[in-house]
Amino acid sequence: MMLLIHPPVAKPCEPPGGIAKLSGAFGSHGIAHSVLDANLEGLMYVIDGPLAASDRWTTRAFRNRRKHLRALKDPATYRTTDRYRRSVSDLNRLVEMAARRWSIQMSLANYQDSIRSPLRSADLRYSFRNPESNPFYEYFSGRLTELLDRDQPGMIGISLNYLSQALCAFAMLGFIRRHWPEVALVLGGGLITSWMQQPAWQNPFSDLVDHLIAGPGETELLSLQGIVVQQSPEPQHYRPDYTHLPGADYLAPGFILPYNASTGCYWNRCAFCPERAEGNPYRAVPVERVVAHLKELVDQTRPALIHLLDNAVSPALMEALVDQPPQVGWYGFTRFNRRLAQPAFCRELKESGCVMLQIGLESGDQQVLDGEQKGIDLDLASRALQNLKDAGIATYVYLLFGTPSETLTQARATLEFTVRHADAINFLNLAIFNLPINGQQAQQLQTEMLYDGDLSLYTGFHHPRGWNRSDVRQFLDREFKRHPAIRQILRRDPPLFTSNHAPFFTRGFI
Ligand code: SF4
Repeated sequence: MMLLIHPPVAKPCEPPGGIAKLSGAFGSHGIAHSVLDANLEGLMYVIDGPLAASDRWTTRAFRNRRKHLRALKDPATYRTTDRYRRSVSDLNRLVEMAARRWSIQMSLANYQDSIRSPLRSADLRYSFRNPESNPFYEYFSGRLTELLDRDQPGMIGISLNYLSQALCAFAMLGFIRRHWPEVALVLGGGLITSWMQQPAWQNPFSDLVDHLIAGPGETELLSLQGIVVQQSPEPQHYRPDYTHLPGADYLAPGFILPYNASTGCYWNRCAFCPERAEGNPYRAVPVERVVAHLKELVDQTRPALIHLLDNAVSPALMEALVDQPPQVGWYGFTRFNRRLAQPAFCRELKESGCVMLQIGLESGDQQVLDGEQKGIDLDLASRALQNLKDAGIATYVYLLFGTPSETLTQARATLEFTVRHADAINFLNLAIFNLPINGQQAQQLQTEMLYDGDLSLYTGFHHPRGWNRSDVRQFLDREFKRHPAIRQILRRDPPLFTSNHAPFFTRGFI
């Protein structure tokens, strides 16, 4: 018997795709297992009290908490931005106040300890040894005891994908080890993969956790259960299983079905990309299998929306979805590609159910795009944005400032491009460049440690043209975000849930 856990904190709006995939793999081999979304349950536990402060805002939020939870599951709420914002900020207030006495800044989307860092193995080890110092202790001590007494698993796997989950994951592991030392502990997921891909990686947790797994964990976990999976002539592609997760409890106006059609990236060339720096190979599920999986999952879960989790949905998959639409709205990341420059294709994409595309434009300056090997032609991007708008597909555009190829002049070109296309950009994400510690660029630049942590994935650097982080931040705050057209776009962004709730504010839903 195996127990799979998704630890806090991550946005509680959709079930975790990683453990659903593992659950699918286990189910298809008849292995008994159970699944725990400790993130969703933990946040709901905290929201439900006891009341952590007596100020008016917190008291009112607590009084209305059930109403707000219902509101975020009701499509009508997403038609009134003010109601939506009120529900999110009140629920978030409860989460924030509950963690304050531990000196932790916690929200519905993040977890930041002012003393301990998830980038320091010593702090993660502290969390392991002192689980009672975690704000979710009351929740997970009771819940894990109940589950372990009931199911008596011989092995427990935690899927760790975000830094915001790391300290809580180690606290949960420590609690389990203290009370059930005979249970084998396994740790995997995106963050563990990133750490283990670092060339200088030396496992600092070998005395705490029995197995660490890098990359998609199905095959290795199955082999720990004594099942050898044949990966040739063709690798196994398991269909995720969401039936063990509480589909109706997530904070969304209907079930969001996450699906990963690939890992890595088919482009894999952007100079700033952590995926590339980590050398993650591109592995895609054959498109006909994706289409079949989606059809089965849609029949089974009746979702309101499909969330494609790929780093970049391939043109081949888009064409397959056009040919065989999943009958439900879908969204995900893609690249500006030639197909999107064809108005007819964008219309077909809309008919296939595409409600929103997340696209990394990064810069509005061709030289920067070329310098960063982004592989985007600005004329094509411009046509694609217009075509998507005409077809009624919303766009969530990602911009990246402060790359080694950029200067203030070029950042201003990005501002100009964004303003010129403002009516075709529904949502914007602005990020400041982080230099992957083991990327090619780190070898060419003068670097300096940015974070004090042995598990850091990024490093600071001296910008070759003097366009340093503080200048970039100042430009964003004083110039970029102040432009009326940009301000209008940024105001639309759903607070905390951002791109995960954005599709519900688009024409496909309202
Ligand atoms: S398209 Fe995205 S995932 Fe692919 S290489 Fe570029 S930044 Fe990385």
